[in-house]
Amino acid sequence: MSKDIRPLEHHNYVAFFLTLNCNLRCPYCINLHNGGSRYERARGKHLGPDEWIKAADRLVLRDDLPLTIQGGESTFYKGFYRFVREVREDIKMDLLTNMSFDTEEFIRQVPVSRFTREAPYASIRVSYHPGQNDIEELIGKTYRLQDAGFRVGIYGIEHPSIINHIHEVKERCLKLGIDFRTKEFLGEWESDLHGTFKYEGSVCGNQLKACDCRTTEIIADPGGYVFRCHADLYKGREPIAHILDEDFSESSIEKFRACSSYGDCNPCDVKVKTNRFQIFGHTTVEIRNVRELAEADAASSMPGRLYEENEKLHI
Ligand code: SF4
Ligand code: SF4
Repeated sequence: MSKDIRPLEHHNYVAFFLTLNCNLRCPYCINLHNGGSRYERARGKHLGPDEWIKAADRLVLRDDLPLTIQGGESTFYKGFYRFVREVREDIKMDLLTNMSFDTEEFIRQVPVSRFTREAPYASIRVSYHPGQNDIEELIGKTYRLQDAGFRVGIYGIEHPSIINHIHEVKERCLKLGIDFRTKEFLGEWESDLHGTFKYEGSVCGNQLKACDCRTTEIIADPGGYVFRCHADLYKGREPIAHILDEDFSESSIEKFRACSSYGDCNPCDVKVKTNRFQIFGHTTVEIRNVRELAEADAASSMPGRLYEENEKLHI
């Protein structure tokens, strides 16, 4: 019998990446476009809808913590509609999407209650990518979903190459009564690193280092594998568990794990942000004991010094 998964107070995010495939090709996309993570490719399969439903039904979520469905473009996942309809009724979801889906089908298939909860932002968050999707179409679809009872917000990334356009579109959408928000661009552009990161050299570092790292998020890739962080998930590094492992629970993400990829962290994981208690300085992961790789290798072979092995993978 599988254990419940009950995220703790300091666990901030639970996300299922139903697929990493996407119909768009945004130049700044952090996802892989070649079929997903190493594990997804190796296995050549995504979890089926029955398996995702089983995984989601294990969740016991707080009112302020929904299950976020993301990707890639998660509505392209073949069992998407069955999944959102059949998961236990009390599980609230958020959806990150580029809105390529057919709105009439979405309205027909998805109960509004699934995406309805008290929150300071919309449950359906649409990303606008200039040159990739069309703002006029997004505005029309947003109105249609709002008429059907869904709460929708459009988001634009303040990428240096499009920032003026994004601000113009924001102004226009706000005048039209559409919730349009911007997101800071994080990462490297024309040799400049954008974003405020808690740990120096963790993003685009000029040298990989070792460290111990602990997350506050439960993130599962299309194959159902759970990772320490977004960098591991997108890069298909070693997972720490599988969402269907019977003994997987919230405590599985509680420990510090040795990592030798410090310097190649994903900006989302180490960005300094304000948490839901409005305390500034929060990051998704906590990192300690940063050290040279050679030092870590030597230490790991020292008798008596225990280095954690990843748990056995669910097959
Ligand atoms: S819509 Fe999102 S997932 Fe798709 S290419 Fe753009 S950034 Fe990547
Ligand atoms: S140190 Fe960076 S790459 Fe390593 S687990 Fe933490 S966030 Fe991921």
